Amino acid sequence: MGIKPYPNFFMKAKKSLGQNFLIDNNVINKIIDEVSACKDDLIIEIGPGRGALTSKLKNKGCNVIAYELDNDLSNILSKLEDNKLRVIYGDFLKSDIKEDIKDIKYNNLYLVGNLPYYITTPIIEHIIDENIEFSKFTIMIQKEVADRFMAEAGTKDYGFITLVLKYYFNISKVCDVSKYSFNPVPKVESSVVSFVPRKDKLDVDADGYFKFLKNAFRQKRKNLRNNLNGLYDLDMVLQALNKYGLDLSVRAESLDEEILVNIYKSVTQ
Ligand code: SAM
Repeated sequence: MGIKPYPNFFMKAKKSLGQNFLIDNNVINKIIDEVSACKDDLIIEIGPGRGALTSKLKNKGCNVIAYELDNDLSNILSKLEDNKLRVIYGDFLKSDIKEDIKDIKYNNLYLVGNLPYYITTPIIEHIIDENIEFSKFTIMIQKEVADRFMAEAGTKDYGFITLVLKYYFNISKVCDVSKYSFNPVPKVESSVVSFVPRKDKLDVDADGYFKFLKNAFRQKRKNLRNNLNGLYDLDMVLQALNKYGLDLSVRAESLDEEILVNIYKSVTQ
């Protein structure tokens, strides 16, 4: 049985900081295996909490930097700290990652975190904005959100956010996680997913493409004619759609990335 009570129950979890601590060793081990760092690599852990992942990440033998917002956890985390593990007490969302890691030599950078779900999007945005090169970012998120992030065209979960993330990353699911794998037990089910920066980058500018996507998906039930009318040249949109045997009556949610990128290119040429 993988689930066992964590020894530091005397410290109450802080709901306001989204503290639901992992107590399921099967899940912990799956995350640890997914972070395929070697001894010359660097791991950044976001929100180490009581160290459920941290102690095992240390076993990989590489440097680990952990960002924890809750100072009260220092009495637990300080026991793990040594010349390979540094805990930075503060808000990861305000961190200057490049500055924090500038003195560490490493081959590959891995990021990992089990964080409050209300900061899932800000965390991903911060990592994109910080513009750091990394090999993989493994994160626990709400299952429903994972379904949206990884949705295929034509499904109900597919939308603007799916395509924005796809612009940057290949996303894969590591495992689904039952709410009983945490203490305290949260309300929602979870999934662990990995983000790997995309090597085959799209040759379109992010700002213009995202604005186009926002418009195309503006009203989910409306077709492209309605959503793009007055904003883009509909003749050019139709020309691009015709190459795929489609017309302006399609909805954005049924179009895959290749088609949407081609429409965007045709209206910005
Ligand atoms: N990783 C641990 C585990 O799996 O048991 C803790 C998970 S708990 C869901 C989230 C942790 O993130 C808490 O320790 C919380 O204090 C910390 N946290 C919340 N917001 C944070 C932020 N903005 N920056 C850094 N840590 C944060």
